[in-house]
Formats: sequence, structure tokens, C-alpha cells
Amino acid sequence: MTTETTSGNKGLQQAEPLIFETGHATGTGVDLPAPKGGKYEKLGGLGRKAALELPGLSEPETMRHFVRLSQKNYAIDLGLFPLGSCTMKHNPRLNERAARFEGFADLHPLQPISTVQGALELMDELAHWLMTLTGMPAVALSPKAGAHGEFCGMLAIKAALEARGEATTRRRVLVPSSAHGTNPATAAAAGFTVDEIPARDDGRVHLDDVKAKLGPDVAAIMITNPNTCGLFEPEIKNIADAVHEAGGYFYCDGANYNAIVGKVRPGDLGVDAMHINLHKTFSTPHGGGGPGAGPTVLSAALAPFAPVPHIVKKPTSRELREHAEGTQAFGRMCAFHGQMGMFTRALTYMMSHGSDGLRQVSEDAVLNANYLLARLKPHFNAPFGERPCMHEVLLDDSSIKPKGVETIDMAKALLDEGYHPFTTYFPLVVHGAMLIEPTETEPKRELDRFADVMIALAERVNAGEVEFFKQAPKLAPMRRLDDTRAARSPKLRWKPEANSAAKQAAE
Ligand SMILES: *Cc1c(COP(=O)(O)O)cnc(C)c1O
Repeated sequence: MTTETTSGNKGLQQAEPLIFETGHATGTGVDLPAPKGGKYEKLGGLGRKAALELPGLSEPETMRHFVRLSQKNYAIDLGLFPLGSCTMKHNPRLNERAARFEGFADLHPLQPISTVQGALELMDELAHWLMTLTGMPAVALSPKAGAHGEFCGMLAIKAALEARGEATTRRRVLVPSSAHGTNPATAAAAGFTVDEIPARDDGRVHLDDVKAKLGPDVAAIMITNPNTCGLFEPEIKNIADAVHEAGGYFYCDGANYNAIVGKVRPGDLGVDAMHINLHKTFSTPHGGGGPGAGPTVLSAALAPFAPVPHIVKKPTSRELREHAEGTQAFGRMCAFHGQMGMFTRALTYMMSHGSDGLRQVSEDAVLNANYLLARLKPHFNAPFGERPCMHEVLLDDSSIKPKGVETIDMAKALLDEGYHPFTTYFPLVVHGAMLIEPTETEPKRELDRFADVMIALAERVNAGEVEFFKQAPKLAPMRRLDDTRAARSPKLRWKPEANSAAKQAAE
């Protein structure tokens, strides 16, 4: 790490060591009386033998530490967040307000059912909206992320195959090579083998390629629509029909639902299961590993196998069916009922937009992406750019790479320009991919500011300023990191330096 200032601080941003290096196990911001009786009296002999060695800080030090960290982060509230496939859209403050109502925010999942009727009504209403929008008869709300929803859908498919007596014969799942990595990972985690449908030059899945792979051992196909190249799959209905005819199920990765919500009902396309990332399409906050939610809609064929809990409507109340016995439910996805805070935000978003507003969401998302495509196409190679795109713009580095600048260099240069980078090197089927998703919440002025930066960077490439790119980022808290080593050999635990105990003692 190099810094140009004496302190390491940069432009009103304070640098500091790790919290483990500044905090001492003995320091604390709270002043509690010593426990009465023995120290670990109520722990049944399970009290710790050694100190936990958490870093202790005073309250102001703690505040500063976390605010400093937050300032190092990029956020949708700071500017356009072009991360493709992730749908980083504005999180309306109305949603936040609703989610903070005591009756939703302060619930405990083990509260008596009679005291959480409002929460159950909210979940039921959300389920109603999701089923209506997708044209599907059932939904499991509990999955806690898109990938978790995929797992839910594939377990429902597995249970349906078991009920048909075909669980041991139908073990192959077809996945196009453009798929998000979670798709093959999910299929494998659910015990299936993955068979890849190779990519074609037009970035789409072809009926002929699917038909060539179908057989009595195929359990399902997993297709993303619109796909990860930002294109609607035109043969989707015929593909669904062919898969069904061959006895398989159609799992749709619904992460890109933002492009078609209110316009297309996945149920009409023959989908059997699809997760919906509430944190993408329905604006609930995400990033930094925060809570997501991946409710999974199911067709009539899979509905009986939906995981518990089920909300059961009684004449004057709602109840939860918590156990799978006596039903065909495959079990449960998590300890409780899912992410209540995300349910509240998503339903607030839906109700404040209304069905016509949600249609406009997808129209504007597609319009914004096509505006960016039109502005950037003259300056970068757009692999499928001869046709309009859906909600994301796919560029690659084939026009800049011969001049010495690659996708990673563009991404690092964007950091210095004040933007979180676009998605790099995904989808894998396009070499040097740069996937940009503006979402509908960006006004034209913001789109233009971002496009101006991208175009100015392209002009620097053309001017031969390779070193400018290789040196980037110059202004970020950290210079260029070894991403590959960080991924291959991550250090997951901080260990004190050998001499730090002696140093602390000396202090
Ligand atoms: C985001 C995404 C997923 C996974 O969703 P998570 O909520 O991150 O688990 C799956 N497929 C695609 C295409 C995605 O963009």
C-alpha cells in the first residue's frame, strides 16, 4: 500500500489499523456490575475457560471505527451502482419506514401466533402479489437468498420425482454455459449431475440444443430469463414444452425478473419453479452480504411439495403449519419463516407502485439500459449490440485489449472516477465481459454522467495512456490488490503479530 499523505488519511477520510490491532480485550464501552453468585453459575459447566479476546473499544472509538468503514464503502445512496445482474436500485425510504414499525421490527419468531396475526397477513399478502405477478399457484417465502431459492426449487423437483418413483433414474440437470455459477452449484448440492448446454454466438439457448440433450434421465433444466447476456430467450416456451414432454421440470432463475415484472408472467412460459430476489427486483437493500430474500414460486405440479411453514387461512385468523408430517412438503428451508424485514420492504414497494407502476419499473429499466447501450456502443465492443438489450448492457474488452487495457483495468479506473465497477468477466461465455445494469431508478442526468466517464476512459485508451490504467486505482484506500490470491488463499482469521503481546505489555 502506498499513500501520498504523511498520515495515511486521504481527503477527510481517516485511515486506521484493524479493530483487533487497536482494541484491547480488557477495554469496553459499557460498565456492567459483576454478576451475582458464581461467574458462570447458570451455564451448566459450559463457561469459557479462557478469555474470548474480542477487541474492546470505548463507545466513541466504536462509532468512529464503523463510520470510517462505512465511508470506505460505495453505496447506492452515493451514486449509480452499475453492477450487472445484481440490480442495485434505490431502496425507497418509505420501505424503510414500514420495516421499522414496532409491530414488524420487534417481532420474535417464537411469539404466540395470536400476537402476530398482522405479520402473517403481510406475508400472505406478499405471497398473493408474488403469485399474481408471476401467474404461479404457490410460493415458498422462507428461502433467504436467490441461491437458497434455487435450492428450494430443486428440492421440490427432487421430491416430485421421488413421488413419481423416478428419483433414482432422473439425475441429470441441464444448465446453459451462460448460467450464473449458483445454478450448477445448486443442482450439484441437491444431488444432481450437471450437463452443460454449450453457448452459441448469439448468446441464446436454442431449442435444438436442448432437444439433443433431453432423455429419460433428465430431471430438469435451469434457465435464466432474461439471460445473463441481457437477452430475452425467444424460444423459452418451446423449450419448456419440450422439457415437459420429456418428463422434466423447468427451473427458471428469476434474478433478472426486474426486466419483465408486470410484462410477462413466468407461469405463462411453462415455468415450474422460479426464485425471486426481493433484494433485486423489489428494491430491498443488499450488498455487503446483508439479508436477502429469495421466495420461490411453484407450479401446480410442484406446489404439493412446497416446504413448511405454510400459512393456513382460518375463518377469522391465520395459522402456521410448521410440520411436514401428513403433507408432501419436502421439509423446511430454515429455522423460522424467512426475512420479515425484507417481506415488509418488498410489499411496501409493490403496494406503493401498484401493478401499473411495477410494469413501468421494467419498462424504465429496459429503457435506461438501452440508452446506455446506445451511448457506449460507439466506444466499446457490444457483443450482441446490434439488437436492443433487456435491462443490462453487455460490453467486452475486445476493442481495447489490443491497445493494452483490459476489463480489470477499466474497472480499477472507474474506482478513481468515483464509481463502483460494473460486473467483470461475467457471463463467462463472453471473454472480458463488462456487464452494466443501471436499473430504472437512475435519472437521465446520472446515466449521462456515468456514460461520459466511460467514454472519457475509452478515449484515454485510444490516446495510448496504458500506464494510467495499470496504475489505477490511485485514489482508493487500497491500491490494486491481488484478487486471485485473495480468492485462492484467503486469510480468514486475524493473527496477532509475534511481538504484539510484548508491545502491548510495554504500553
Ligand atoms: C444474483 C443472482 C443469483 C443469486 O442470488 P443471491 O440472492 O445472490 O443468492 C442467481 N442468478 C443470477 C442470474 C443472479 O444475478
